[in-house]
Amino acid sequence: MPTESNNILAEVGAKTIETEFFSPLPDGYRRGHHKFVVVMGTVISGLGKGIFSSSLAKLLKDKGLRIAPIKMEGYLNLDSGTLNPYRHGEVFVLDDGTETDMDLGTYERLLDQNLTADNFVTSGQVYRHVLDKERHGGYLGRDVQMIPHVTGEVKYLLRNLAVKQNADVVFVEVGGTVGDFENAFYLEALRELAFEEGAGSVCFVALTYILEPPTLGEQKSKAAQLGIKRLMELGIQPHMVACRCENPLNEKVREKIAMFTNVPIRRVFSMHDRASIYSIPEDIHLGGQDLEILSILDLHNRVKPAYEDKARKTWHGFVTRLTGERKYEVNIGITGKYAALRDAYASIDKALEHCGTHLNATVRLHWLDTTEMDSLDGSAIAGGLEGLDGVIVPGGFGLRGTEGKIACVRYCREQLVPYLGICLGFQMAVIEFARNVCGLSGSGSTEFNEKCEHPVISLLPEQKEIEGLGGNMRLGGKDVQIHPDTLAAFLFDNKPTVRRRFRHRYEVDPQYIPVFEKKGLVFSGRHPEHPIMQFLELPTAVHPYFVGSQFHPELTSRPLHPSPMFMGLVAAAVRRRHPQVNPADISKRWLAATAKQPA
Ligand code: GLN
Repeated sequence: MPTESNNILAEVGAKTIETEFFSPLPDGYRRGHHKFVVVMGTVISGLGKGIFSSSLAKLLKDKGLRIAPIKMEGYLNLDSGTLNPYRHGEVFVLDDGTETDMDLGTYERLLDQNLTADNFVTSGQVYRHVLDKERHGGYLGRDVQMIPHVTGEVKYLLRNLAVKQNADVVFVEVGGTVGDFENAFYLEALRELAFEEGAGSVCFVALTYILEPPTLGEQKSKAAQLGIKRLMELGIQPHMVACRCENPLNEKVREKIAMFTNVPIRRVFSMHDRASIYSIPEDIHLGGQDLEILSILDLHNRVKPAYEDKARKTWHGFVTRLTGERKYEVNIGITGKYAALRDAYASIDKALEHCGTHLNATVRLHWLDTTEMDSLDGSAIAGGLEGLDGVIVPGGFGLRGTEGKIACVRYCREQLVPYLGICLGFQMAVIEFARNVCGLSGSGSTEFNEKCEHPVISLLPEQKEIEGLGGNMRLGGKDVQIHPDTLAAFLFDNKPTVRRRFRHRYEVDPQYIPVFEKKGLVFSGRHPEHPIMQFLELPTAVHPYFVGSQFHPELTSRPLHPSPMFMGLVAAAVRRRHPQVNPADISKRWLAATAKQPA
């Protein structure tokens, strides 16, 4: 039934300039078909809005609905490429090469869906678009204003996303906290969107924080109440309130929140801390919150029950294994600075969680600060790595800590400790091999030393021409050709090519390849046409598990489709720690990866 606000939307699409409304509609937009769920944080940042929002989105996807998530960042940077991962968390690279916030990784993992540049927007992008349009006369003589023009562009891009990805539901996550100066125009745009789309089209969910001061020993709701009041002052009445808290939300606090926010008590729910984020979707479902969203958005008749049963069963199997007892335990070292670690290496952390679950193993992470190792000798390094069943050298930039990383690689190669090198870790393995096996002691990367004697890793002019590299990074999903009869072929199920995501500038100089190969290093994954090395390994006859990739395998590890390279590492680590491992506990396929023990 058309409401008054729906009629307004119909009008503003046609008239553009004389009206006070500015709501350009993309072609093919189906009003009433595309629905929106908006997740906003109040009180404090760092509540895990992305995790919460993607868990809700997953529940709806598992009902057979088409979901398009979008993260709206308040900052002016055009993407996350220049952000410091120790401050902002890892830079997550999408298949199309977009460098985004780590939350996009959470959406991809939980939705098991590849996202694109359309699923991520920053204030900088919105302003750039508005200013470009203004320079091209796009506003036909009008003064360009925050309202309605900037907000109009925000609404346009949300509707455009709905059309492009044919979404039943667009999940909008607003970065920052309600009350921040920099996301205020997003909130205003969303208020307008709800007004224009009419009742039953936009569901606002406020994620808030319940304090539990140790001195009081009880939950306090005042900050949450005030945070939501702030939202209401902006003209947004939440439909649901999720409460982040350390312990499950108590009934009294729940009632208070309901009372002060006009939200029915069944739509106020607890989002307390738990061991793994992957149990959140099931908990939300048990509380019936997914059904509440369906009711608010009138979506019950789009649910596909058979599809949902199957998806829920599969997910339940994963969560049961995840939360159940594990038979094995392994210690994996990761070279990285401790303080800022988890967010800076979020995808690696998750990839290990996926693999541990599938392989019946608890994976204990140990962070190795290689900046302190640079000056240590071999025995001190060995002391630091003792007891580890596997080591990962992840991606990185710059000189700091690289000598320590190379020393770690050496230890793993010589002591037969399972090793996985990612991007910079791949390059470190090449340099270590050049120095200590091929006798090229002056080997290095031109990233750290332009004048090193053997620049085995460098920026190559002929490669720069390929794929328009220039001084830019090689970014996004690319094909990797896999050599048959190698460990790589085994890991990737004998597929001739796999597609993986890259983010790097430097590469192996092909002129050294014959030297490396002669000494036994195998480049088992390459660019399909050019001499760009993308995967290396030592044969399983000489080392139980020694692999590296120029791409980032962690970016495409999903709970139900764990990364084969990480699976191989964890399986090899299990075998090292538990030589009598029972094949019944771990799929034979993964044990076989490391079956050939060196003589
Ligand atoms: N610094 C290296 C390069 O630019 C590695 C990059 C990375 O690890 N992501 O090639």
